[in-house]
Amino acid sequence: MPSIFTKIIARQIPADILHEDELCLAFRDISPKAPTHFLVIPKKEIVSLADLTDEDQTIVGRCVVVASQVAAAEGLDGGYRLICNCGDDGGQEVPHLHFHVMGGRKMTWPPG
Ligand code: IMP
Repeated sequence: MPSIFTKIIARQIPADILHEDELCLAFRDISPKAPTHFLVIPKKEIVSLADLTDEDQTIVGRCVVVASQVAAAEGLDGGYRLICNCGDDGGQEVPHLHFHVMGGRKMTWPPG
């Protein structure tokens, strides 16, 4: 079942896109929880971390590298947080694998 992120990939709904390549897309979160908050998603329709297989290693690796590169381009020199919510207990709302990158403020630990 395609999610809203599939529509963003297909440009069927607008997004503030920060990076795109053959494997992944990075765009600003529509409801930012930090001064800088963007998402990195694979173009492949993967529901969550729980659905990853060995063949997804390159895709996930690319997403993490893009998270790092876009964070640098956004000027998050003081650090940032990379989060991936998985499933109901993990607080995942959109059923398409995504990595949150949040920065621009001091993060607290543990998250709620
Ligand atoms: P989750 O709770 O980890 O699934 O996070 C989903 C994130 O997607 C939330 O931070 C939402 O604000 C964000 N989001 C939902 N719809 C859109 C959209 O259309 N554009 C950008 N971000 C979105």
